[in-house]
Amino acid sequence: MADTKETLIKTENLKVYFKNKGGEGDVRAVDDISFSIFKGETFGVVGESGCGKSTLGRAMIRLLPPTDGHVYFKDTDIKGLNKKQMKDMRKKVQIIFQDPSACLNPRRNIRKILEEPFQIHGIKDKSYVDQRIHELMDLVGLAEYHLNRYPHELSGGQKQRIGIARALALNPEFIVCDEAVSALDVSVQAQVLNLLDELQEKLGLTYMFISHNLSVVHHISDRVGVMYLGKMVEISEANALYEKHYHPYTEALLSAIPQVDKEKQGQRIILTGDVPSPSDPPKGCRFHTRCSRCMEQCKQTEPVLREIEAGHLVACHLYDQQ
Ligand code: SF4
Repeated sequence: MADTKETLIKTENLKVYFKNKGGEGDVRAVDDISFSIFKGETFGVVGESGCGKSTLGRAMIRLLPPTDGHVYFKDTDIKGLNKKQMKDMRKKVQIIFQDPSACLNPRRNIRKILEEPFQIHGIKDKSYVDQRIHELMDLVGLAEYHLNRYPHELSGGQKQRIGIARALALNPEFIVCDEAVSALDVSVQAQVLNLLDELQEKLGLTYMFISHNLSVVHHISDRVGVMYLGKMVEISEANALYEKHYHPYTEALLSAIPQVDKEKQGQRIILTGDVPSPSDPPKGCRFHTRCSRCMEQCKQTEPVLREIEAGHLVACHLYDQQ
């Protein structure tokens, strides 16, 4: 991670609500989230499926419009950008999706697929585009001959490398990796994670790495944010979080990671009860219906995310006095 802690992108009271088809109330996928990602770091986001982490990632790069609140990229509020300004912004912010097969046009060969971002942005200089495509193939560790192949002729790992090359085409600064290795075999996952690490080092990239896999997030992240039902409940430096966590939800999540080291093996905490509906979240602390340490106050008052140690933020009434 970079030595300086210059903020690259941040949200302020960001909300993303969806119409609840057939039900009452909006689905509050992201509900009042404020946090920052520093230049050059990997910020991991974890939480159960449906907690809003992918929606948050998409809203950060305006693939989804915010219902309320702001996203600032280098102090520019991206909500206020017009179509042309947003198109320029798209060069700086990119996304790598979970399923590379679904993102690559099966009727186009890899060369055509990699030409697309340049066409979209009106870059017509053929010799520049050719040279850039060769650089991209080299960066992601694929050979020239792969350019003539079609997606179905590539392995899952190779397809994801093409997804990464396409995301890198226009020299972005910030990339959302949305479950970017979840669809790959474990051995291939490690190769792609190492590639992402190398590219970050080489190109000075900043990542938001979204995953339900806590071990993968620990491996790649500098800092981690834990999400529950549309809220950020704990943020910390990654190693510190895995050593010492405060929020009862983080405790339960991390207790599920298998440990080889016997000394680190603790009691697995099984969460009872279903995750409440994001269209009708519980009053007070959203986790109170499943929290074994719930107090009366938790049912009435929503805890605020605040710093309880340097760089460690928690939203839980247990630490109100600290
Ligand atoms: Fe549990 Fe209360 Fe903390 Fe929520 S605020 S996590 S219910 S102790």
